[in-house]
Amino acid sequence: MKRPSIYLLPERIRISNENFTHFCLLLKHNSKDYNPVACKSIFRINLGNKLLLIFMFYNVHTHRQSRGKDVLSIENRYENFDSDLSGIYVSLGLHPWYLDAGHLEAQLGILAKNARRPEVLAVGECGLDRITDTDWTLQVTAFRKQIALAQHIHKPVIVHCVKAFNEVLSELKNISVPVVFHGVNKKWSVVQPVIDAGYFLSFGKAILSDHEYILETFRATPLERVFLETDDAELDIREIYKSAARIKNIPEKEIVLQLEKNFNNVFKQ
Ligand SMILES: [Zn+2]
Repeated sequence: MKRPSIYLLPERIRISNENFTHFCLLLKHNSKDYNPVACKSIFRINLGNKLLLIFMFYNVHTHRQSRGKDVLSIENRYENFDSDLSGIYVSLGLHPWYLDAGHLEAQLGILAKNARRPEVLAVGECGLDRITDTDWTLQVTAFRKQIALAQHIHKPVIVHCVKAFNEVLSELKNISVPVVFHGVNKKWSVVQPVIDAGYFLSFGKAILSDHEYILETFRATPLERVFLETDDAELDIREIYKSAARIKNIPEKEIVLQLEKNFNNVFKQ
């Protein structure tokens, strides 16, 4: 079961999900200092001489329901774009694995109609994949049209890129909305051009591994360009945050604060 992370200084305590809402309401009524709006990523609540901190975690790309009082997720949809989105945030995009030449124009039409909805924080994942069987020209066509859509509606793009960094970067050359390359698991020399181009890298389960080349990539990526995600893995985003802090050798709080800044800069709601 997912649990909100609650830190009571100097001791750390944990509270179950069921208690959490009730607990926050109690705090709200009992504490003059409760002001989650002023500080979203770490709720600071003074309780007498104790300080309670509640971290907010951002999961920018997941294919699962990854909900919790202290997690803000962008759930990915590659079909059923006109489904109910109440209470959630999503990214909508045509994934290169599931393109269908016969229906591309129709799918792009439904995507364009729905991508404007306020719950849609990004277009994607979309991109280019050298390993999948999908026809390359079809992939390029679908990617170009989704880049154009994102530009038109001023929303960021979440990119799927497999063995096609040069091609993806060249397609993105004239883009003016933010771009996030998700699922990064490559060595630094491969992804450095993405950072040089001003884009963001989103890391997931790869940083739970002990592959030194991935850890090196993560260490080399400036925190101002980092996002974290669970993608299709059954993982808790809080574990990825912990691992990120360990690899960067900085307090988890620093990651929490910077990633919230990044989120607010890129995914303006
Ligand atoms: Zn994905």
